[in-house]
Amino acid sequence: MTKRIAVVGAGAVGKAITYQFLTEGYNCTLFDPQGGASHSASRVAGGMQGSYSEITEDNQDSKQIKFCLDSHKVFRSWLKQIENDSGIEVYLHQGSIVFANSIGGIGDKEAINVMIKKIQEQGDTYENLMPSDIPFMKPSSHCEVEKAIYIPSEAGFDAETLHESLFGAIKAYPKANVVADSVTDITPVTKGECWAVTTTNGETHEFDSVIISAGAQAEKLLGESLYSELALPPMYGGKGVALLMENTLDINTVIRTPNRHGACGTHAVPRKNGLYVGATNRPSLDPTNNGGATAGEINFLFDGIINQINNQFANSALLGTLAAYRPFTADGKPFIGQTNQPGLFLATGTGRTGILMAPLIAQIIVDEVMGKTPRQENVFTPIDRKGSYETIKTATFEQLYTVAKAAVIDVAGAYGSLPLDSSNTIAAYIAQMLHELVISYANGNKVDGKIMYIFDNFPTEVAVPLLYSTVVSKQLQKL
Ligand SMILES: Cc1cc2nc3c(=O)[nH]c(=O)nc-3n(C[C@H](O)[C@H](O)[C@H](O)COP(=O)(O)OP(=O)(O)OC[C@H]3O[C@@H](n4cnc5c(N)ncnc54)[C@H](O)[C@@H]3O)c2cc1C
Repeated sequence: MTKRIAVVGAGAVGKAITYQFLTEGYNCTLFDPQGGASHSASRVAGGMQGSYSEITEDNQDSKQIKFCLDSHKVFRSWLKQIENDSGIEVYLHQGSIVFANSIGGIGDKEAINVMIKKIQEQGDTYENLMPSDIPFMKPSSHCEVEKAIYIPSEAGFDAETLHESLFGAIKAYPKANVVADSVTDITPVTKGECWAVTTTNGETHEFDSVIISAGAQAEKLLGESLYSELALPPMYGGKGVALLMENTLDINTVIRTPNRHGACGTHAVPRKNGLYVGATNRPSLDPTNNGGATAGEINFLFDGIINQINNQFANSALLGTLAAYRPFTADGKPFIGQTNQPGLFLATGTGRTGILMAPLIAQIIVDEVMGKTPRQENVFTPIDRKGSYETIKTATFEQLYTVAKAAVIDVAGAYGSLPLDSSNTIAAYIAQMLHELVISYANGNKVDGKIMYIFDNFPTEVAVPLLYSTVVSKQLQKL
């Protein structure tokens, strides 16, 4: 009997999985509220293939890096096949320039050194650049470039055209069934045999295998009871804002700093209809798409492109703002593959690199669903992941203070609601507030339920910004 397969969510990950099933000759039903045209993280993405340039001193998870490098290797042939099937070319520029400047300080330079080490280990190439070698670089005097490299094997593509091409390719297969509706419920019919998928119009469809690729909405979609049965770390959304500007300087390659502020630093990526300028990243427990970009976030992005890349962008038109939530897991690793519930699969939690990872995730899912010999080892299985990290409860005050200070400067000072020049004073103040909070918690005082939830479920580096956005910022507004 033909296996009935459903994919829920048509971001890059869900589409890549659907496309993989179809190219291998299987039927596949894809559910998404707007038939694939929604404002998912995938469309807001920078489209950088930053296998090396995403690496920093404190982001050297070798499994994640290897996964990105492996996916990078198959990405081009995957893209070619999509373009052939859809007839829609994906706009792409080769190479990335990564620069360190006085704003990023020692952290930027250390990150570039770690990138170089990885490039060399892989037998890949890079070039050292002098600031004067970068034709479209003219930063403000306080943002001087201190180190720069060119990585020829990386690339940047227009995530919007990838989206169109991938969707066009899916529709070219008669075995594709696209349901332009939101899924409201997923329930096991006979445990281990079949799943019922219900949509907002009340229709219910039954499937042998269901793959949840609903991005930052995945936990909410599964519901409290099913999610707790899966015994997984919780998820949260990383709000990302980016700008689309006129590419008045004809930038023709990715240009970026190393990762900063939990995001991919200041970066510009040429797109078909302008220049993409990214990006922010603010953790949130409520990853809905109705927030849009704030003035503080836009201010931060303008500062990056105008002061850190080229002053002349002050004269370029702003074509639009983009905002969406990246899907993150509390242990920082994606959920890929079969869950502890037979027939239920996850493909989410890809954080900052989901587009790059999509082709490999798709292969893993198809192999697991169809019981094939795996083409790729799955190092991100969503089984036995509970308790795979330490929560804030075990942090020392010093650790908490360090993270709190950095978080306040990043989140509140850089693109938050506070004046840019007061971030250090405010950092000290918030650290004091957090101190009180921790002491209060340690003394067994009654603490707000949401704070308890954050304490219990998230690692320190995520918990502190979450505490900030959930609790402390509201306290500050009252002052
Ligand atoms: C600003 C920004 C910049 C980024 N830059 C890069 C980059 O340069 N390179 C890179 O590789 N990655 C980048 N990322 C990360 C990347 O975008 C994500 O990791 C990836 O897009 C996640 O894909 P996804 O398909 O899992 O989720 P999404 O793209 O969010 O898609 C989820 C889909 O699920 C659908 N959905 C949700 N709920 C339901 C429901 N109930 N029923 C049916 N459908 C539902 C939504 O409509 C949506 O279409 C960036 C992200 C952001 C926000």
